[in-house]
Amino acid sequence: MMEPLLSRLRPRKEQGTYALSLVYGKTVYHYLISQDKAGKFCIPEGTKFDTLWQLVEYLKLKADGLIYRLKEACPNSSASAEAAAPTLPAHPSTFTQPQRRVDTLNSDGYTPEPARVASPEKQRPMPMDTSVYESPYSDPEELKDKKLFLKRENLLVADIELGCGNFGSVRQGVYRMRKKQIDVAIKVLKHSTEKADKDEMMREAQIMHQLDNPYIVRLIGVCQAEALMLVMEMAGGGPLHKFLIGKKEEIPVSNVAELLHQVAMGMKYLEEKNFVHRDLAARNVLLVNRHYAKISDFGLSKALGADDSYYTARSAGKWPLKWYAPECINFRKFSSRSDVWSYGVTMWEAFSYGQKPYKKMKGPEVLDFIKQGKRMECPPECPPEMYSLMSDCWTYKWEDRPDFLTVEQRMRNYYYSLASRAEGSPQCGQVAEAACG
Ligand code: AMP
Repeated sequence: MMEPLLSRLRPRKEQGTYALSLVYGKTVYHYLISQDKAGKFCIPEGTKFDTLWQLVEYLKLKADGLIYRLKEACPNSSASAEAAAPTLPAHPSTFTQPQRRVDTLNSDGYTPEPARVASPEKQRPMPMDTSVYESPYSDPEELKDKKLFLKRENLLVADIELGCGNFGSVRQGVYRMRKKQIDVAIKVLKHSTEKADKDEMMREAQIMHQLDNPYIVRLIGVCQAEALMLVMEMAGGGPLHKFLIGKKEEIPVSNVAELLHQVAMGMKYLEEKNFVHRDLAARNVLLVNRHYAKISDFGLSKALGADDSYYTARSAGKWPLKWYAPECINFRKFSSRSDVWSYGVTMWEAFSYGQKPYKKMKGPEVLDFIKQGKRMECPPECPPEMYSLMSDCWTYKWEDRPDFLTVEQRMRNYYYSLASRAEGSPQCGQVAEAACG
């Protein structure tokens, strides 16, 4: 398909207006960017933005009336440099350079199986090759600006919905930092939300703000503007269970084990930091790409006290019972070991390629089923080693259940054994390296 190769932005003589030129095929298209009385920028009939930066970033995500969405800026000709100068100099990544966008599952060049990789140029993406592997604040220069509350002018919220949850919608956006800009997902709180929900969202933000791990969706910050917004790293591949549905042929078991191992690494980190997630499920594992998973949704999470190994909920709430260990339901007691139980259910969901656990049973029936010593059966595609691990995660007594240190090690051993079976593959070493995190 024909795509625009070049675009250029320059100020016009008429003050406050700009010309945006787009080369598409052999044709050059010119668009007028004007400012309304309130100083907002837009192309004719287009969405209005407070800053030119926000408009340009938006047009990279959405055509919004252009012949095509913006792709790449002109190579640094004097004209384009001059053009960019009046409005966009403080942020080198804006418009004058093509951005490395977050990998998505739709990107080309992914090879499904390490063993099948033949040519180096077709290597699949590794987590560390993505922009969300390292903390956006790993650069000390950026760290200087790290604050929980973000300035609205540095945030672009596009009307592109990535999903929706209890609080409202999650939208795609871009956040401008000191030296770079990053793709973000923005949880926008509904206007009708009660104060209690706002407080809950802020609690989620406080928890996420303390975490920094490649296998956990990082919080960039909170922005209080037209709505309360939680700005997070982008994991645009969607939830794990949805991704796996109907993909038995396409996604090999090794790929499923790879993703689950990453979840185990993220959970081991939480266990070490004495946090309990309390809502681990395939729906809360988001993919960056098909070889990179991150744990999300910390709405129910708790930081345990230094000397505590569990948290006792004051009362039962709207709980995901099918993912909960018996002691959560019976005694409202939550610990890393109860997260291990949920991890077992998440494993079951993944190895059954997105099936719903305990099919037709209702939550309370599940508890009876468990009490009788019954457990879900091994999904048809699930390797015996993996079923054995998930069964151990479903040990009734929490004291006898493995911790995440053990779970991660068992997942790693299994995943590495698959990688070494794919011997001779040039990807093999990379598989192991990726797994080390
Ligand atoms: P939640 O309210 O956290 O359950 O999120 C609802 C949906 O929004 C998820 O199922 C995802 O499809 C999407 N979503 C949430 N967080 C992100 C993120 N960090 N990156 C991309 N999509 C997200």
